[in-house]
Amino acid sequence: MNPLTIKNCSGSIEAWFPRGLLDGEECFTSTHLTNEGLCPVRITWNEGIVSSIAPIDIPSQYPTKFALPRLLEPHAHIDKAFTWTEYPNLIGTYGGALKHNFQEHQNRTGDTVRLRGERSLKLGLKNGLRAVRSHIDSFGSFADQSWEVLLDLRSQWRELIELQLVALVPLEFWITAKGRLFASKVANFGGLLGGVLVPPFDKRKARRVLVEVLKLANDLGCGIDLHIDEADIQPGLGLKQLVQALDQVDNQVPITCSHASSMSLLPLVDLRRLADSLAHHQINVVALPLTNAWLLGRCSKGTEVKRPLAPIAELQQAGVTVAVGGDNAQDPWLPLGNFDPIELISYSLLLAHLAPWQRLGLSPFTTSAASLMRLEWDGILRRGSPAELIVLNASSWAEALATSSDRRVLINGLWLDKHNVGEDNLNFGQ
Ligand SMILES: [Zn+2]
Repeated sequence: MNPLTIKNCSGSIEAWFPRGLLDGEECFTSTHLTNEGLCPVRITWNEGIVSSIAPIDIPSQYPTKFALPRLLEPHAHIDKAFTWTEYPNLIGTYGGALKHNFQEHQNRTGDTVRLRGERSLKLGLKNGLRAVRSHIDSFGSFADQSWEVLLDLRSQWRELIELQLVALVPLEFWITAKGRLFASKVANFGGLLGGVLVPPFDKRKARRVLVEVLKLANDLGCGIDLHIDEADIQPGLGLKQLVQALDQVDNQVPITCSHASSMSLLPLVDLRRLADSLAHHQINVVALPLTNAWLLGRCSKGTEVKRPLAPIAELQQAGVTVAVGGDNAQDPWLPLGNFDPIELISYSLLLAHLAPWQRLGLSPFTTSAASLMRLEWDGILRRGSPAELIVLNASSWAEALATSSDRRVLINGLWLDKHNVGEDNLNFGQ
C-alpha cells in the first residue's frame, strides 16, 4: 500500500483559500479578499510539491471550489473506536463511559484493535487527515497486542497518515518497575507517555507522581500527553499540580494537556494566572469540545447550560498553543465522531465559538495542531510545500461547513480515489 511512489504528479486547481494559511510571500495585497478572509487562487503543483500560487483577479473567473490544507487529528482513541453499539453509555456520564470502556477491555484483542484502527485511518484519509495522534489503552493484558498491531499500522500507513501513539495508563503506573520498563519501550517506539489526572485525587500524592513521571520522561527524552481535568468539579486542580511539579523539574520534553476542561470554571483572575503558568512552562493544550459537551456538566433533572471546556481564547491570549481534537468516535465516551476534520470545525463553531475566518479560530485545526504534533509541515501553503489539499464544493466558509461531506483529497499531488479506500489497494489518479 504505497501509491505515493508514483512520480510526475502534477496539476492545478482554482479555489477559494484562507489567506491566513498562505505564506506571507504569497499574500497578495491587491487580490480580492472576501469578508471571511478567503482569496481566489490558482494552486499549481509538480511532482507532489506546490510550484506556484497565483491570484485570480477577474471576478467572472472566480472559482467554485474551496480548498484547505490536509488537516490533523491531535487527539483520538482508535483502539476503542466504533464500539458504541456493543458498549453504549446510554446515560452519557463520565462514570458510565469508564464502566463500559472497562467492559469492552474484557473482550479486546489484537484483531479487534486492528479492525478499529484500520477503519479509523481509512475514514480519516477519506475525510482529509494527514496526521492522527491516538491514545492507546495500555494497562491490561491486551496492551502488548494493541501496541504490536498499532505499530504495524503506523508503519503500513506512514506514507498516507502520520500516526502518533500515546500510552494511556493510570499515572502512577509509570513509577512502578513495570511501568518504567514499559516507558522505555514506548520511548524506543517514538511514542509518548500518557495518563489520566481527574479529580477527586490526593493533591500531594499527585504532585509527587507527576514529578517522577516528568523526570522519567526527561531521562527517556519522551514527550507527555495527559488527560487532565476532564471534569466539572475542582476547577483546574490537575493543571495546578502539574505546574507545581514542573517548578521542581528542569523539563526539556514537550508536554500536552488534553481536555483541561474544568479550568474554564475558575474565576477569571485565577484562570488567567493559571493560563500564564501554562504558557511559562510551555504546556500545550488540546481542547476536546465534543466529548466534553456530551459527558460533562450534566444535570440529572434538567438541561445544564454551564458546559466545561478548555478556555481556548484565554489560553491563546496567554500564549499557550491550543489545538482542537475530536477525541472519541462512536465509543462509550461519545456516540458521535467520524474522523472528519471539517465536521470538527463545524461543531467547534457552535461549542467553542471558534470562527474559522478568524486567525485564532482556525489555528487550533491547522498551524497550532501541527506545531503541537511537531509535524514537519506547518500547514501553511507556499511554494515548496507539499501539495496536500482538501477540496470542497463551496465558495464560502458557511457553504463549506454546511455541505462538507462531498470532498476531494490531494496527497502529494495525487488525488485520492476515495471509492477505493477500503479495498486492498488505494488507487490514486491525477
Ligand atoms: Zn481522550
